Amino acid sequence: MPAPLSLDRVRQNGVVGAGGAGFPTYQKLAGAAEVAILNAAECEPLLHKDKQLLERYGDEVLAGLRLAADRVGASRVVVAIKDKYVDLIAELRRKAAPLDIEVHLLGDFYPAGDEFVTVYEVTGRVIPPGGLPGHVGCVVTNVETALNLVRDVPVTHKYLSVAGAVPEPVTVRAPVGLAFGELLRGAGVDPAEVGSVLVGGVMMGRLMESFDEVVTRTTGALLCFPPGHSLPARYATPDPIKARIGRSACDQCSFCTEMCPRYLLGHPIEPHKAMRGLGFQNLGEGAMLGNAFCCECNLCSLYACPEDLFPMNACRDTKPAIRASGSAHPLKGQPTQPHSMRDYRRIPLKSLIQKLGLSGFRNVGPLREIDWRPRELRVPLAMHIGAPAVATVKVGQRVTAGDVLGAPPADALGVPVHAPVDAVVTAVGDAVVLSTTA
Ligand code: SF4
Ligand code: SF4
Repeated sequence: MPAPLSLDRVRQNGVVGAGGAGFPTYQKLAGAAEVAILNAAECEPLLHKDKQLLERYGDEVLAGLRLAADRVGASRVVVAIKDKYVDLIAELRRKAAPLDIEVHLLGDFYPAGDEFVTVYEVTGRVIPPGGLPGHVGCVVTNVETALNLVRDVPVTHKYLSVAGAVPEPVTVRAPVGLAFGELLRGAGVDPAEVGSVLVGGVMMGRLMESFDEVVTRTTGALLCFPPGHSLPARYATPDPIKARIGRSACDQCSFCTEMCPRYLLGHPIEPHKAMRGLGFQNLGEGAMLGNAFCCECNLCSLYACPEDLFPMNACRDTKPAIRASGSAHPLKGQPTQPHSMRDYRRIPLKSLIQKLGLSGFRNVGPLREIDWRPRELRVPLAMHIGAPAVATVKVGQRVTAGDVLGAPPADALGVPVHAPVDAVVTAVGDAVVLSTTA
């Protein structure tokens, strides 16, 4: 068995949540929890890296989960995974049993991987509005994060899915700082033939702005679309237009609210009211406070709304004003009860794929090792939650793989960033630029 987890090493290695915004893991594991959950739901259409990692590195991932669970003192340790992965589940159960880890099967619905949903499915406990898994005695770890914990080396590379309109969907391990254009070429995709790219996921991702953007510690996928596909076009709609269309076209049918996974957990989030607020000066501050509890899963905009409006954006756009007001919804932090119809309103992934026009794309992709020989990497100093790292290297300095390029202020929440390869520093700004040919 590996040595017990040192939170200082977890911090120094730059381990952050690899499945979301990148919350520093040393901080997440600093408290106690009764239940440790590995979130292997990977519920976004077209993503397949967690499944690939579990197939290839299942022993290591489970060992990482065990380390995290022991660190927080968990008495129950659970892998939460979709029930459709039949072969993988049998193998996982065989490997997990000696480590006293359960395998919990989730239905194939979206968003099974939203950690509020995952925690409820596994434990029956509802995280309160605005709360964290720790408020109900849980800690949730991503598959790749567990792998990074057990490997105990600086996090310099990222696994990600390349899928959509590509010759062959794949999962690759790429150095942080690699340009998206180079990544796509390495994965067998000609950028000139790609219409648009969604970064991260089709539901919670964003439209790529340039092939010069780079891989970070939280990049989960590059999803390619042919010219004219309706999904990237929806992402490309300017925010003022989204709001203007919503003001004139929303008929207040409330489908967006009735299917909202957080509303169905009893949280006071009602996107149809956010839509109503677009035309009525936000209905006064009080009625909008529940928008703070929107997890931005996008189910309301991309599935529920029969008029293809943008209720997620209506919720999200009010969050800065809510934060600035200093006000909070009276149910923030309070226990809630799930809606009586919740179990009947889970959205099957198949229906979602059909609705989004993704049926022609394969929802699989093997893990392929690629011998990257990048001439240049641009390693961002701010790429996850916490204080940005401050560069600790100078132009002209030679670094070796794993060296620290920048570190956050000592007392701030944050983690250092490291060099993925042996190289020379050629520029320092928002990113540290590394050349392998200088
Ligand atoms: S945003 Fe769409 S789903 Fe929601 S109330 Fe309006 S029309 Fe109905
Ligand atoms: S994006 Fe829409 S469906 Fe998802 S939590 Fe927010 S309001 Fe609910």
